[in-house]
Amino acid sequence: MFKYQVCILLILSVSLGVFLEGQQTLAHKQNTYIPSKVQTQVVQDLLAKYGQGQQDRIFKGVAQVSVFWKKQDGKPEEFSQFCMENFIADPAELNRTFQKLSRYQEILGGLYNKMGLELQWNLQVDTGAIDKIDYLYGAYDPSAHLTEDLYQNKIAFFILLNFSYFSLQEKVELGPNWTREQWAYARIGDLFDSRVPANLIQKYSKQLVETDTYISEYNIYMGNLVDEAKKTYFPSDLSLISHWGLRDELKAQYALADGLVRQQMIYQVMQRIIHQTIPKAVINSDALLWNPVTNQVFQKDGTEIQTPAEPYTRYNHILAMYQALKKMDSSYPYYPSAIKRAFDLDMEIPVEEVAGVFEEFLASPTGKKVGELISKRLGRSLQPFDIWYDGFKPRSGISQEILDQKVSAKYATIADFEKDVPNILTQLGFSQKTAEHIATKLTVDPARGAGHAAGAEMRGFKAHLRTRVPKHGMDYKGFNIAMHELGHNVEQVMTLYDVDQYMLHGVPTTAFTEAWAFVFQARDLEILGMKPENPDYKALKALDSFWSTREIMGVALVDIKLWQWMYKHRPQKPEQVAEAATRIAIEVWNKYYADVFGIADSPILAIYSHMVAYPLYLSAYPVGHIIEFQLEKQMEGKVIGQEMERIYTYGRIIPQLWMKHAVGSPLSAQPMLEAAQEALTKMR
Ligand SMILES: [Zn+2]
Repeated sequence: MFKYQVCILLILSVSLGVFLEGQQTLAHKQNTYIPSKVQTQVVQDLLAKYGQGQQDRIFKGVAQVSVFWKKQDGKPEEFSQFCMENFIADPAELNRTFQKLSRYQEILGGLYNKMGLELQWNLQVDTGAIDKIDYLYGAYDPSAHLTEDLYQNKIAFFILLNFSYFSLQEKVELGPNWTREQWAYARIGDLFDSRVPANLIQKYSKQLVETDTYISEYNIYMGNLVDEAKKTYFPSDLSLISHWGLRDELKAQYALADGLVRQQMIYQVMQRIIHQTIPKAVINSDALLWNPVTNQVFQKDGTEIQTPAEPYTRYNHILAMYQALKKMDSSYPYYPSAIKRAFDLDMEIPVEEVAGVFEEFLASPTGKKVGELISKRLGRSLQPFDIWYDGFKPRSGISQEILDQKVSAKYATIADFEKDVPNILTQLGFSQKTAEHIATKLTVDPARGAGHAAGAEMRGFKAHLRTRVPKHGMDYKGFNIAMHELGHNVEQVMTLYDVDQYMLHGVPTTAFTEAWAFVFQARDLEILGMKPENPDYKALKALDSFWSTREIMGVALVDIKLWQWMYKHRPQKPEQVAEAATRIAIEVWNKYYADVFGIADSPILAIYSHMVAYPLYLSAYPVGHIIEFQLEKQMEGKVIGQEMERIYTYGRIIPQLWMKHAVGSPLSAQPMLEAAQEALTKMR
C-alpha cells in the first residue's frame, strides 16, 4: 500500500514536470513562488477527490495557477486551499460558470468601453470648444488597473484553475475540430496569459511617449534645403514630418513635370536620416540651410558652419523599446519574446508564416514586370524611391465637382446620412431585415476629425459613426471616408449582436475590420448610382495595390528581421542597432528589389517611423491588404451583404481558420498576384 502510494506520487511528480516542460511555462518554472512539491501535492489531492477522469484539467489548472501566483497572493498553504476549494469538476456547474463568466466579461468590457466613449465625447465629437478638463478626463483610463484587480481578488486564478489555456499551436491543431462552445471556452482561457508588473508597464508607457515625441518633432524644413548653387526647391514654409510627410511629398511630385529633382532631394534626406549622418541642427529647426547631398550646413547669410550629426538617437529609441519590452518577457510565460507577442499573441499567426507569405509575394516575377511598366510610364529608369510610385492611383474619371454636388444634394445634413443607412445597406445586398436591424444599432455623430468608428462591447449599446458634414452639405471626400467608417460600424454591430458566443464576438484582429471597411469604401460610387468612367479603373486599382503592398512588405520584413537580430545579439549600444538596421534593409533590398529597380544597396526600406515608435506593428498593413484582396475575390459574383454576413458572424476565431471559413484557404497573396498579372495583360 505504502509502496503504491509512493509510486503514484513519483508518477505524478514526473508527469507534472513533463507536462509543465511541455508548456513552455517551465522556462520560468524555477521562478514560481509555489514550490513544485506543493503543486504536486495539490494535484494528488485533487485527483484523489475527483478521480482520474479530471486528470488533464487538474494538471493544467494547477500548473496555470502556480505560474502566476506570487508571494503577495498568499502562502503556499493558501495556494493549496484555493485550488482545493475552487476546482470545478462537475461539467454542468462548469458550463453554468462559463455562461456567467461570458456575461460578466461583457459587463466589464462593455461598460468600461462605454465609460471611455463618454469620457472622450467632447474630444471626439464636435461639441464646441475643448477645455482643459476635457483632456484630463479624456486621457483617463478607468480600466487601467482591471487586470491586476482581477488577480488580487482571485478571479484570475479562478479562471486559470478551471479554463485551459491553449497556445496558438494548439489552437491551430485542435481548433478545426472544436465546437463553438469549445472555442468560447478557449477564449476564456486566453484572458490571463500574463501578469506584467505595473512598474514595467509604466516604464514602457514612458518610453512610448518619449519615442512618440521624438518622432512627432522630427520635421524637416524643406524650404531650407539647397543645392550646390544654394538654390531652393520647396516652398519656404513647408515643413515635413519624417517619414510620412517626406514620403507623401515625394508621391505628390509624380504629378509635376519637374518633380524628379525634388524626389531625389527627399531621397537624400531619407538616407541621411537612416545613416544618422543628418546634422542634428537641421532637425525640427528652420535656422540653417542644408545641402543634403554634400551634407554642408550654412547660416542664412551663406556662411558654412560645422555642426555635429544626430548621435544615433533614432536607433537609441529602437534599443530602448527593445530593452523595455524584453524586461516583460518573463511575465509572459507562453510568449517570452516581443516577437512572439506581436505575432502569436496579437496577430495569432506565427512570424514564420507571415514572413513566408511576404517573401513568396516579393519573390514573384510579377514585381519585375510591374516595375518595367512603371519605368515605361515614367519614361526613365527606376530609382529606389519609386517604391512609392503613385501613378496607378485609379481616378474614376468623374470630376470632383460633379461628385461633390451629387453627395451634398443627397446628404445636406448628418441626419440625412443617418436616415439613409438602411438604403445603403440594402443597395449592398443586405436583406431589408438585416439592414434595419443594423441601422437601429448605430448612431451618427458630428466628428471633430475626418471620421471615426467606435463600436460597442456590450449588447444594448450602439456603435458610433463619426463623420463631418460641413454647412453646405457633405462632400465626396467626406462621404468616401464615411463609407469606410460605416463598414467598421456594420462589422462591429454584426459581430457583437449576431455572433453566437459573446466570447467570440468581434474579428480576429484589426486587419479584418479594415478589410471590411475597404470593401464598403470601394463601393462609394455604386451607392451614389455612378460608375467609374475610366475603363482601366479596375486594372489600375489592382496594380496600385500590388505595388504599395510590395513596398510595405519590404518595410515590414526589415522590421521583423531587425527584432530577430536584436533578440539574438542583445545589443547594448545604438550604433550596433544602426549598423544592423541598415545592413538588414540593404539585404532585403538586394534580395527582392535590386533586380526590379536595377540598383543595389539602397537602405530606403529602413525609413519608416513605425519601426522606431510602433514596434513590430508594420506587418499588420500588408496582412490587411492581402485579406482585403482575398475577400474581394471571394465576393466576385456574389451578393456582398449576404456573403459578408456569412463570413463575419463566424467571430473571433484564429485568423487562419477564419480565412478558411471565409474564402476556403488560409492567408495567401495569390489573389493579389493574379489580379496584378491580369491587370498587366490589360494595360499592355
Ligand atoms: Zn479603418
